[in-house]
Amino acid sequence: MAGKAKCHVCDQRKGKRLCPARSAPICPVCCAQNRVVKIDCPATCSFLGAEGSMLLAARSGADAPLPTAEDISAFAMELVETGPRGRFMENVEPTAAGALQQLFEYVDEQDEDATVQGAVWEWVMFGAQDSDGRPLVDRVIARLPRPLTEAERSALRGLHDSRYGLFTIDAFGSKDLAQVTDLLSNETGTETGTETGTGTETDAATGSKSGAGTLELHLESIQDHHEVGKTIACFVTRTQAGLEVVSGAWELPTGAETSLPMRLREVRDESPLKDVPLPEFLTRLSICVPLLLFEHFRDQESGDPNFPPPSF
Ligand SMILES: [Zn+2]
Repeated sequence: MAGKAKCHVCDQRKGKRLCPARSAPICPVCCAQNRVVKIDCPATCSFLGAEGSMLLAARSGADAPLPTAEDISAFAMELVETGPRGRFMENVEPTAAGALQQLFEYVDEQDEDATVQGAVWEWVMFGAQDSDGRPLVDRVIARLPRPLTEAERSALRGLHDSRYGLFTIDAFGSKDLAQVTDLLSNETGTETGTETGTGTETDAATGSKSGAGTLELHLESIQDHHEVGKTIACFVTRTQAGLEVVSGAWELPTGAETSLPMRLREVRDESPLKDVPLPEFLTRLSICVPLLLFEHFRDQESGDPNFPPPSF
């Protein structure tokens, strides 16, 4: 039926595609120019492509279904497997590019590729932006040769909304739930002036703290893998379960819960991103964290005051 009919939009070119939204033939040019933006494309249209799916995901409102952590990790895993190398690192934020370069130089000496590769992928998937402020993960997704499923579109929103944080575990609510203090929360305005975290076992007897920065955090079997008083570094996002860990959950070495925020603040203040709040800076520059931890370990082990700190 669509055979030799003309495109119902431009009425000039051949309508090579049957547009399911208009039930009429459409040419590839008009399809590409108008999809989602001017045409009410169904998510199942095979001509939607990854780019069209991303537009669709971006348009869905606040009532869109939340992802599950499983949706997010499955999607991230597929992106890692199909993801391109090389060129997609062009035009990344200069501070991040500097950190990446140093990280790879450091790894050449230290041979810790797996940790670093993981950190780089985490950064790309969950927080990295290009110099224009667009999520880097969109570049990876744009290369998928197919439209996204509903679960993937919802996972994509989860990826975009995720943030990196440092959370001290105050108590466990259940096997999969912990009450935590967001170590960077006072960066967003509610400065209390109280310095906790000078030791790892501070005020264990005082029990539950409540107030700004105290959150409920979901992570499967968190109680089996972590202890009260420890600080974990991880990406979190809103899922069907609540605020949930979607990647990471490295337990920080003792002392790093104070040194890491301090060094992050210094790095940020010397960078072009000095006006960005610390939680956002940490999310966009999560690849600084392995570098700062290497620095921390080096300081602890060698006590060498001349160890050159990473310069960003
Ligand atoms: Zn046309």
